[in-house]
Amino acid sequence: MSNIRVRFAPSPTGALHIGGVRTALYNYLFAKKHGGTFVLRIEDTDQGRYVPGAEDYILESLAWCGIMPDEGQGIGGKFAPYRQSERKDIYQKYALELVANGNAYYAFDTPEELDAKRQAEAAAGNHNFKYDTVSRKVMKTSLSLPADEVQRRLGAGEDYVIRLKMPENETITFTDLIRGEVSFHTSELDDKVLMKSDGMPTYHLANIVDDHLMEITHVIRGEEWLPSTGHHVLLYRAFGWAATMPDFSHLPLILKPDGKGKLSKRDGAKFGMPVFPLGWDAETEEDSFRGFREFGFLPQAVINFLAFLGWNPGTEQEIFSLAELCEAFSIEKISKSGARFDYDKAKWYNQQYLHTADDAELATLVRPLSEAKGYHVSDKYLAQVCHLMKGRATFLPDLVEQASYLFGDVQTFDNEVVAKRWKPESRPVFEALADHLKAQPAFVAAPLEEAVKAFMTDRGLKPGEVMPILRLSLAGTMQGPGVYEMMELLGNERTIDRLAKAFDYFDAHLA
Ligand code: GLU
Repeated sequence: MSNIRVRFAPSPTGALHIGGVRTALYNYLFAKKHGGTFVLRIEDTDQGRYVPGAEDYILESLAWCGIMPDEGQGIGGKFAPYRQSERKDIYQKYALELVANGNAYYAFDTPEELDAKRQAEAAAGNHNFKYDTVSRKVMKTSLSLPADEVQRRLGAGEDYVIRLKMPENETITFTDLIRGEVSFHTSELDDKVLMKSDGMPTYHLANIVDDHLMEITHVIRGEEWLPSTGHHVLLYRAFGWAATMPDFSHLPLILKPDGKGKLSKRDGAKFGMPVFPLGWDAETEEDSFRGFREFGFLPQAVINFLAFLGWNPGTEQEIFSLAELCEAFSIEKISKSGARFDYDKAKWYNQQYLHTADDAELATLVRPLSEAKGYHVSDKYLAQVCHLMKGRATFLPDLVEQASYLFGDVQTFDNEVVAKRWKPESRPVFEALADHLKAQPAFVAAPLEEAVKAFMTDRGLKPGEVMPILRLSLAGTMQGPGVYEMMELLGNERTIDRLAKAFDYFDAHLA
């Protein structure tokens, strides 16, 4: 095990967006590539936004994708607890340490006073009021009030927040492993609240304290956190932890399928595609949705698709198993520009993975679906159906839904094809063919093919005169698996029976 430690630190504010899964995946790949540790930390200090079930959803999603953390919430480890709401006391101590060393201060303004100040500023033309190096001088803080007044307020149990004291007139620079050098001027940055009046830390404080205590070496997260990183760098400095500050990598945005703007939750319904890994049952139908899993994606396909949303190996290879991704992954190959969420590509990946998936595994996955449809067949038979269908399927349910004729009788025939191919004189020919097939010693695809070919040669028939009728008789449609494979699966008796029934139907529908 190397010293490399990364973390995925979601807030349980709802279902985990597919962008969050990509962040988790990149952290996982980086950890595995370097023999490091992948940690899961739940950042639930914003109690107002807490959504029950969200934490379970996160763990279930990671498990479904096959990218389970090595350490963290739900797993355990030496830095437990990994849920920030259970670490409250830790943050209090660190916030006070920053007040004591002059890098943070108490601010006593009530929410009403802050509102009034904001409005007054707006009336004077400043619509962007923020607590910063300038405004803090006139606010009620431990920097501006006399020391005894501060003590009196604290002693009286008045509400306060603790804010970061932004240094004046400085440029803060750090190196992002994806974006290179990034700078912020402290005049652009506000004096962020570190500790709220309810004694809970804000994201900024808890995140930095925990990354430090949990010995995180690399922070890999979404681009939306880039603007906060100036504050984070300053916090490391204020605590005296600059020497062990993690390296930062900010991942590119995931864009809508049309490339116009950031992919959002609403795009799922708009484009009829999943934007979450798993389904979510909310009280209202409007807030409920199906995920990649319910659409019938294989997790391996989703992982492969997500890996390429913002990264590529620099070669032509597109199909990568998780193990191959771990091997090939590097932060240098992550792009800076937004990655378009190309749903057609996701479907393409799923086709590729279905095509090469193990038949028995597919059968296990589609078993609930086949049962629900009333198709009670053996494991072996279901695996054989999967084998025949998987080359043509886009989604898992296709294996069953498009194969009704492999489970029961043909329900409907494509009448257009019937009208085109079945002639008044066809019947005796096809009856002879059926007899020929029935007499075959082995009902196996290759010899059956030989038998049909021999029959055609004998009678001077072309494949176009024979094969469509056979296919139609067995499947009702011109789509589907190979004719001989279907015969083998159905077996002698069912095949012959099906042919006889189809010929009757065709005769009855003669044009
Ligand atoms: N809790 C933050 C989130 O929900 C974590 C951001 C970070 O990785 O620092 O995305």
